[in-house]
Amino acid sequence: MTKRDYYEILGVAKNASTEELKKAYRKKAIEFHPDKNPDNKEAEEKFKEAAEAYEVLSDDQKRGRYDKYGHKGVGGANGGGFQGGGMSMDDIFENFGNVFGEGFEGFFGGQRGGGGRRQNVGGNLRLRVKMTLEDIANGAEKKLKVRKKIKCNTCSGLGAKDKSSFKTCSMCNGAGSVRKLTQTFLGQMQTTTTCPQCQGEGSTISNKCGTCHGSGIMDGEELISVNIPAGVVEGMQLNLSGKGNMGERNGANGDLYVLIEEEPHEILKREGNNVVYHLHISIPEAALGASFEVPTIDGKAKIKVEPGTQAGKILRLRGKGLPSVNSYGRGDQLIDVNVWTPQKLSSEEKQLLEKLAHSENFKPNPLKGEKGFFERMKEFFTE
Ligand SMILES: [Zn+2]
Ligand SMILES: [Zn+2]
Repeated sequence: MTKRDYYEILGVAKNASTEELKKAYRKKAIEFHPDKNPDNKEAEEKFKEAAEAYEVLSDDQKRGRYDKYGHKGVGGANGGGFQGGGMSMDDIFENFGNVFGEGFEGFFGGQRGGGGRRQNVGGNLRLRVKMTLEDIANGAEKKLKVRKKIKCNTCSGLGAKDKSSFKTCSMCNGAGSVRKLTQTFLGQMQTTTTCPQCQGEGSTISNKCGTCHGSGIMDGEELISVNIPAGVVEGMQLNLSGKGNMGERNGANGDLYVLIEEEPHEILKREGNNVVYHLHISIPEAALGASFEVPTIDGKAKIKVEPGTQAGKILRLRGKGLPSVNSYGRGDQLIDVNVWTPQKLSSEEKQLLEKLAHSENFKPNPLKGEKGFFERMKEFFTE
């Protein structure tokens, strides 16, 4: 579906002023408003279309791009800027206040789907949890001390001295919402809004709890234990539903988000699901071969360096890496072999080395047999 021209949608000229745009949008918004056109899909589409056109044209930058590049300049036919090809109704109504001032919002009823009592939901919380490499390898149970809103211990979350302190709201008779008839230039319109006296709860408290002042919640702490699976990665987030702040007056709890933070290991480095260890060996060890004990995530392991090993050789300890969070199997430990060149020499050592320097076997011959860095890497990661 091709999009219509934004100026055409609002029925204004290309050089329309900000005031003219606003006026035109107001007219369209009233004409196609859902309260005036119940169950009319076409009107709803036109209502959204006008909101989108106004959203772009009222913004100087977006308008400039639109004038230059058309719809492509502001998100294209599929509406990059407008997910799903249009603004959501909620977005549109939220913008009304900004565009037309409070009066307009009130005029149409303000809250969409208004009516029914409000359910109090507590806020979400976010916590960071540190994971060592060992934690990541094995999974870990973490006990978190979470500072959060909990039930008021004086009133058990009621918010009032006792149950009889609750009075059915006199304005809405407990419904939580009120209907009102508004005289507009379009005629009489009925709208539903959240009851201003009880804020949608349906009741008011005559005798509030002295500790929480009616909210039913207080600052507190909870010890929450979280099982963190093996293989998690820095930045991953676990969602513990219902473990966040408690809602007011025995409302529902918000959620707790646990953000994974990796603690770097002193010696081992994580590389995806593999673990890298840098091993330093001496020149004689490289030439003659030797056995080494290297640290791994779960204890020490033995590896053998063959005689004639070059610096840059990578050895592999299969299955000694990390598990993956979404699949079976484990990564490997990769041992990056470095040959240590001595930096201080006695005169005797110098003499020995000088003798060796002229020996045919000590002359580097990289073109014979040894693979280059990228070939070695490729071999490792495609195997
Ligand atoms: Zn009320
Ligand atoms: Zn209380």
